Amino acid sequence: MTGSARVLVAEPVLGEDEAAALGRVIHSNWITMGDQVRTFESAFAACHGADDAVAVNSCTSGLHLALDALDIGERDEVIVPSLSFVATANSVVYTGARPVLVDIESLETPLISIRAAEAACSNRTRAVVVMHYAGAVVDAQAWRDFARRHGLYLIEDSAHAVGRARGPIFGDIAVFSFYGNKNMTTAEGGMIIAPDPTLLARMRSARAHGMTSTTSERLHARAATYDVRSLGYNYRMSELNAALGIVQLQKLDDRNEQRHILVQAYQRVLQYQRNGLIVPLVGHMPSSHHILPILLPAGTDRARVMGALHDRGIQTTIHYPPIHQLTWYRDRYPGVSLPITEEFAERELTLPLHPKLSLQQIGMISDALREVLALEPCPEGQL
Ligand SMILES: *Cc1c(COP(=O)(O)O)cnc(C)c1O
Repeated sequence: MTGSARVLVAEPVLGEDEAAALGRVIHSNWITMGDQVRTFESAFAACHGADDAVAVNSCTSGLHLALDALDIGERDEVIVPSLSFVATANSVVYTGARPVLVDIESLETPLISIRAAEAACSNRTRAVVVMHYAGAVVDAQAWRDFARRHGLYLIEDSAHAVGRARGPIFGDIAVFSFYGNKNMTTAEGGMIIAPDPTLLARMRSARAHGMTSTTSERLHARAATYDVRSLGYNYRMSELNAALGIVQLQKLDDRNEQRHILVQAYQRVLQYQRNGLIVPLVGHMPSSHHILPILLPAGTDRARVMGALHDRGIQTTIHYPPIHQLTWYRDRYPGVSLPITEEFAERELTLPLHPKLSLQQIGMISDALREVLALEPCPEGQL
């Protein structure tokens, strides 16, 4: 088969409910920063054990606001995992601070390593950003202790970990993503949760230029004018995005449960494969099961495997090219060597995982992988 793959790594699940919600916003004629955004914020907060939340136009802008609200800036250092999407480190760079990229725990547990973070601490370190890779939530108690011991702020890049299964947030600030390939989507969007109401209020103001009143408040004559007391940005969410979010949030628990069932099916068929194939994070809880990463046997020609799977109609991707090896970062922060991250990223392959996938398709993907890698067969009836 040639052309585009039929089984995609990720797909949004959108339908009539989302279309109707968008239609209602259009007919209301109030299209940004109104009741939909406020309702979405409250509902999202409630689902994550929080009192309130601030909606933004992306997780990236949310991470920037988080660091900004903690007064992180020039001459500061922030510890960040290199095995993440580039936005995790970019948001640190936006503030003028230096991202200090660190290694993961192991090939089986590709989460930011406390030991590596410990070694990376200096007298300039102000914060650590943890990332719940694949939806697998990092050890809350261990990271809280680490942050307290070193007097650091703890920020959760929760882009992969949207959903109730992960429980309440444990960092000073957590930021979620609703990009099109995430567990729930608003097309583009993000959400910030912080237990400290003062901190959350700072981010709410900085989201909209640092203005002291909103368009809606001025319309309803609750405020005649506005002042700006701190530098802000335009990181607002529109009513259209929020309306999608309200609908998607209602379906999130079911969809995450469906992901969990699919991941367990993958783990059953893949654990019988031999020859150095690794399935990381088996049994790791809590998890939102955002992606399904596997490690190919050492020395495998990954490009050939990806091409052969594509020819069988299966899309695969890589999570992630390590940040410290991206040209922009290598040029500015040379000489960083993170052996476990490097080996993980060389061998990693992300298989399709989304709620529209069937158990049959997982069987088909596992068969294709076995064939392409010339691995031992999976015993009958394991799926
Ligand atoms: C998707 C993602 C982001 C960025 O989210 P946006 O909403 O697209 O800005 C940040 N960090 C991680 C780990 C991500 O997966």
